[in-house]
Amino acid sequence: MNIDIQPLTAKKSLFEDESKLGFGNLFTDRMFLMDYDAGEGWHSPRIVPYGPLSLDPSCAVLHYAQEIFEGLKAFRRPDGNIALFRPRDNFERFNRSAARMCMPELDVDFVLKALKTLIHLESDWVPKSLGTSLYIRPTMIATDPYLGVHPSSKYLFYIILSPVGAYYKNGFSPVKIYISDGYVRSAPGGTGEAKTGGNYAASLKASMEAAALGFDQVLWLDAVERKYVEEVGSMNICFLYDGKVVTSPLKGTILDGITRRSILALVKELGLQVEERALSVDEILEGAGNGRLKEAFGTGTAAVVSPVGQFTYRDRTVTLGDGRMGELTGRLYDMLTGIQYGKLPDQHGWVE
Ligand code: PMP
Repeated sequence: MNIDIQPLTAKKSLFEDESKLGFGNLFTDRMFLMDYDAGEGWHSPRIVPYGPLSLDPSCAVLHYAQEIFEGLKAFRRPDGNIALFRPRDNFERFNRSAARMCMPELDVDFVLKALKTLIHLESDWVPKSLGTSLYIRPTMIATDPYLGVHPSSKYLFYIILSPVGAYYKNGFSPVKIYISDGYVRSAPGGTGEAKTGGNYAASLKASMEAAALGFDQVLWLDAVERKYVEEVGSMNICFLYDGKVVTSPLKGTILDGITRRSILALVKELGLQVEERALSVDEILEGAGNGRLKEAFGTGTAAVVSPVGQFTYRDRTVTLGDGRMGELTGRLYDMLTGIQYGKLPDQHGWVE
């Protein structure tokens, strides 16, 4: 399929001060679109000026949330080139989300080519300063104008790009985590492993309540016993417990994070053991007190790693560390960002 590249009608002015870039509030001049119709398959790939979509008010995504998305980043390297971090892994995860939500899969090679073409056209929008990047949001929505609860026969796939500022502009400050036993994010058999909008809509209330109490993020427990760690906010979570890195297993209720996967590979390279098992709330509360739990950090595309300084469960609060990023957490952050920004060799073939 040839990608039709339509001319720009107007150019937005580029950001002037990279230190003022935020997250997800500024979009580049162009976007990639492609349509799907049952019978015809994917067709009409095109790069067009960024702008509003026209949707029928009855279309399926607006009623039944048949929608999936991805989040990945492109990085400006010291030689001026732009690198994507593990983009195939993101598109493969997109296809797993698609299968779960009864949506059509994409040809990974083709969409990767489309993404690279789009980024090439929009390369001026990739910021240059330390910690900044271009955030990439591939999305698929169900566009059938039909109110029946049924998988759509039409879909729109699109990719939009957003220059984002450094996550740790003001230094690393460990976050305060609220362990939620009142709300759950996902349950066995549900859609927790899919990157679908409904999971995020369902998480808002717990996040808002935790924020009102002064917490930064919610730690989600398992839905069955409300006892075992699943994820934190929109990140996976790792613990340095008894000298090993412990993280929740991929059993269908949590997202299979690309950062999680990368961090676990780096942990093994450092000679540390990885244990994929769900830590319990008791192990966190007791471990912080008796020294078995030394560090905890979230992992995700936005923050890379996010150190945890405090956990609160019901009326009990425990603290970790001395208010600074833990030693292992900091080391992993430097290793992974070093590979992403081209300051360390990429021995894994993660960058393309
Ligand atoms: N869990 C959830 C629920 C997320 O939204 C994300 C962000 N994509 C992650 C974990 C981390 O995944 P990744 O490392 O691929 O960004």
